[in-house]
Amino acid sequence: MLMGYSSFGPVMVAVMIFAFALAIVVYFIPSIVAYARRTQNFLAIFLLNLFLGWSLLGWVGSLIWALLDEKKGYAYMQVPVAAPNNSSLSPQPRAIMTAPPTPSSTAVFCPHCGHAVGPEDLFCAHCGHALRQPPEK
Ligand SMILES: [Zn+2]
Repeated sequence: MLMGYSSFGPVMVAVMIFAFALAIVVYFIPSIVAYARRTQNFLAIFLLNLFLGWSLLGWVGSLIWALLDEKKGYAYMQVPVAAPNNSSLSPQPRAIMTAPPTPSSTAVFCPHCGHAVGPEDLFCAHCGHALRQPPEK
């Protein structure tokens, strides 16, 4: 016999739904602020809000971030356009651009996967790509 708990009135249900919706809105206030301010890092703020908003620190942090983040200004929209580059002038693949920067100037990178390899290696230790043709007779 669950006396008192067996019958929620429709008003009580409505109040609970309203409170739930209100909690959702309050929960996503940082994302709403970030969206309204058209911040640069809206997606990051939203994800922080979504995954860490349940903790007070994450919620306050994402809210502060949303308030302090730079707006998407005109300068931000000016993405530097790459100069027209005729690929016929540079036939070699530019795989080295994906390689991580290294302080050593003598480092050699695999042209296949970009992994750092030794200057004397015949094969890439990462993907097995032949770095040079074996000496033929
Ligand atoms: Zn490789």
